[in-house]
Amino acid sequence: MSSYELSREDYQSIVKPEHQELLDPYFDDIIDESYSLSISFVNVVNGAINTNNQKMRAEQQWDKVIYDQYASNLTRVATHGIIKEHTSLLFILVFVIGTIGSLMFILPQVQLGGPSGIKNNGIFHHALNNRGWLGISIGVLLVAFYVLLYFYDAYIMNWIILVDPVQKLINPSAQASQWFLYGFLYTFAVLVMGIRMIIKYRHSKYQIVRTLSVMFFQTAFAFILPEILVRLNQPYFDFKNMWPLDYDFFDAWHIQSLTTAGGLGIFMFAWGITIFVVGVPVFVFFFGKRWYCSWVCGCGGLAETAGDSFRQLSDKSVKAWKIERYLIHGVLVFSIIMTIGVLYTFITGSNTLLGLNTYTWLRQPYGFLIGSIFSGVIGTGFYPIMGNRVWCRFGCPLAAYLGIVQRFKSRFRITTNGGQCISCGNCSTYCEMGIDVRWYAQRGQNIVRSSCVGCGVCSAVCPRGVLNLENRDEEGRFGEPILIGNDGIQLEK
Ligand code: SF4
Ligand code: SF4
Repeated sequence: MSSYELSREDYQSIVKPEHQELLDPYFDDIIDESYSLSISFVNVVNGAINTNNQKMRAEQQWDKVIYDQYASNLTRVATHGIIKEHTSLLFILVFVIGTIGSLMFILPQVQLGGPSGIKNNGIFHHALNNRGWLGISIGVLLVAFYVLLYFYDAYIMNWIILVDPVQKLINPSAQASQWFLYGFLYTFAVLVMGIRMIIKYRHSKYQIVRTLSVMFFQTAFAFILPEILVRLNQPYFDFKNMWPLDYDFFDAWHIQSLTTAGGLGIFMFAWGITIFVVGVPVFVFFFGKRWYCSWVCGCGGLAETAGDSFRQLSDKSVKAWKIERYLIHGVLVFSIIMTIGVLYTFITGSNTLLGLNTYTWLRQPYGFLIGSIFSGVIGTGFYPIMGNRVWCRFGCPLAAYLGIVQRFKSRFRITTNGGQCISCGNCSTYCEMGIDVRWYAQRGQNIVRSSCVGCGVCSAVCPRGVLNLENRDEEGRFGEPILIGNDGIQLEK
């Protein structure tokens, strides 16, 4: 589809002059050479830079080791062929026709799919829904995509160029990057699969409004608004994202970019702090963590829409619950320590805290292990294996913080009319956070769990109307179980 040929002018416009001196001998063989595959081109470019770096390291000329990531920019300018000449046409073919095709499959479900709501028919025999070949294949593809996106974006340059028309629509002077591609695909998935979600749960007003909410916040706040800000020469900023999920919020470069950007930048910085210091406790007190996890958050938005087919795969065992608590609170502690280290460096100018380099020992491992591998590669790639809320349940430090407030100081609870429960287990099966909802329902006990994201699906799939998401007074929130046993019914005093 594309060929790759690097001209000398392009090479000289991208590679810094001091690096050209070092790289010229290696790039003489690459320039004006034609490559038919991106993988071949990227490999020779990286090979040239690596050869120089090995030589300089061997000679201990550390200032001549090149750390700049040139492969992406060089691949972009070297790309020729149909993808660059007919970008808009290809974009329409892939995304517009793809959307029409998806909607042609989704929309008729209103009539053909029978009644709304969860259908249990064969769900655990389906290759997609129960870790079958289809689910595993999708998981492998997602993992591969995330690895390429995060670490080898030069190899997917054709995809990045493909979304240039959208980037230029929002900001004519910008070129799409791998992060723009990611934002676009993410939003695309939330919107298309959001329509599917609305059709599926069309009997529930709560599900319809909630899904519209995540579609809106992903499109307007996470995707379009930050790009408009950049077009207006303001810092890139997602107003609905916050620390500790936004783990680079307190990085020196980020603080500097906001505080040196004038009044709006200062406002953004203050907003970012206020929302997690004041916004979280206040909103969680009144509405539970659902206001964020199920109505606003992008990760939650993708999980609830594109991940809906996998919600039954969450592990309901007590062992999984224990692992969840250790893991998610461990990540929260790690994020706090990492942020203290980063802030310490920013305030004092010292790179070391207690003898450890704050970047090498804290910020870098956190970004790689939590920011990339856990939240992205595992968080989405493992939907078809561990359910759609792997990240929210086991890894998200913001979910942990919201959960602590929800558990100890909130009006939110799910009430259960235990007498009506027929123990069908729909609620537990489809709880994406692995909560054994039925266990509470059978006892007539309120559900007050830090992990509950208030998605409301347990309530939507209950055939007896047993479960109700409520924000009543705190008093009596935990409630006493109404036990139905051999000795009759024990009632709350
Ligand atoms: S308990 Fe219900 S509302 Fe809470 S996460 Fe599970 S399914 Fe969603
Ligand atoms: S609460 Fe509803 S969905 Fe859950 S087991 Fe009871 S009847 Fe079934």
